[in-house]
Amino acid sequence: MIEIKLHNTKTRRKQVFTPIDRENVRIYLCGPTVYDRAHIGNARNVIMFDVLYRLLRHEYGADHVTYVRNFTDVDDKINAEALRRQTAGETGTLEELIAQRTEETIGWYHADMDALGNLRPDHEPRATQYIPEMIAMTEDLIAKGHAYEVEGHVLFNVRSFPEYGQLSGRSVDDMIAGARVEVAPYKRDPMDFVLWKPSDAETPGWDSPWGRGRPGWHIECSAMSQALLGPSFDIHGGGTDLTFPHHENELAQSCCANPDEGFANIWLHNEMLQVEGKKMSKSLGNFFTVRDLLDQGIPGEVIRFVFLQTHYRKTMDWTAEKAAQARDTLGKWRGLVRGVKPSEPHPIIIQALSDDLNTSMAISGLHALAKEVEKSGIGAPQLAASAALLGLLTNDLSDWPEQGELSLEIRTQIKMLAERWIGYRRKKAWSSADSLRDGLLEAGVRLSVDKTNTSEWRYENPDMLTVSECEQKIEQLARVEGLL
Ligand code: AMP
Ligand code: ZN
Repeated sequence: MIEIKLHNTKTRRKQVFTPIDRENVRIYLCGPTVYDRAHIGNARNVIMFDVLYRLLRHEYGADHVTYVRNFTDVDDKINAEALRRQTAGETGTLEELIAQRTEETIGWYHADMDALGNLRPDHEPRATQYIPEMIAMTEDLIAKGHAYEVEGHVLFNVRSFPEYGQLSGRSVDDMIAGARVEVAPYKRDPMDFVLWKPSDAETPGWDSPWGRGRPGWHIECSAMSQALLGPSFDIHGGGTDLTFPHHENELAQSCCANPDEGFANIWLHNEMLQVEGKKMSKSLGNFFTVRDLLDQGIPGEVIRFVFLQTHYRKTMDWTAEKAAQARDTLGKWRGLVRGVKPSEPHPIIIQALSDDLNTSMAISGLHALAKEVEKSGIGAPQLAASAALLGLLTNDLSDWPEQGELSLEIRTQIKMLAERWIGYRRKKAWSSADSLRDGLLEAGVRLSVDKTNTSEWRYENPDMLTVSECEQKIEQLARVEGLL
């Protein structure tokens, strides 16, 4: 069994991953707040966690990993969106409009994340389904002296947890000095944060010991992870923007509710995504949802490939140029593995992923394997299995109308035809050379020569024929030339 190393935000170093229970490895990713379509930044940790999930399933067995990713469907942004719709004249109660909006958004989210080749988690709890658990945990925290009620609010007493700040590496006093916290009259200490808050008639609410109200965001994840994974589990993830305050607060709540438990053993945080070198923002016009890119005709597999080229702990830049290159590469690789049954992934891919999910190194490994398949025709099943560990070259993602998907056999025939063409040119048999060149162009392949007079070819398919139409034409030419 291979040793998996992961960078733990809490210890600030890479450490060997040892599951609490190797029969049931448990991981949790903070999921989306479902009020709008996911932007491409939101896809980053989903893809990172999907690779982690695939690696763990490979190592521990598909039935021995439990992956939970929640939907935050209690949030003021959702309420605001529903209210906006109601004001704009849409019919239905506020609650109905909220339910409509969250259902719709969850549907989009599934479609978009599926299109990027992500496996669905084992559980996708919605906050609204775990309100009793959140109330129970809040009551428990009050009983243990870590929380207090004021005017229908319940607040977590940060000073009651001396380790507060350890995850994000901040001290409470520095944070207060930096005035990064919201001061409110009902807080005993400016650092204290909300576990429960009152709802007015316009806002969704549930009955609780503190009156009608709703949970704070942080308690949602603490309650849902505990309900589905237990008080301690293996890996917790999210973007670096969640480290503080969200994860710091989750950790404080869960550790205070379960003083003998450690909550998450390893914390994984991905760096942010930018677009064309700049922070993605609506005002700069470089803000894209996943759906925008798919609608531009960029296949989900191509988007995924671009993401995987950058290690998750580095800032990632989405560029149109990278997408175009990824498209070329994947098109070629799809040709190499077409019709091939995947075998076992190559050890270099497993090694790269085991080294803190080094997907960029794994992609370099795939390039090397693909080169070998192209050169010698050997290793296609291993290339397919290796790519599948990254969620690439899978059947699920194969439906893009491309370009480049010529089989290895046909590519070999093209190479022979190209050499034949050079041969005709050397002999100055111009009409044979030209008719072969034109025939190939009709089959979608453009021939050229480089500086050393060696043949080169490119699959361009300007007439947008299907791959099998092109292949039939190429085979026909090979037959006419006596190569088959
Ligand atoms: P939100 O819906 O804004 O709470 O974000 C959901 C997830 O997307 C969180 O895990 C964030 O860390 C992540 N996220 C948001 N913006 C970006 C970005 N630009 N790059 C990478 N991850 C992001
Ligand atoms: Zn969370």
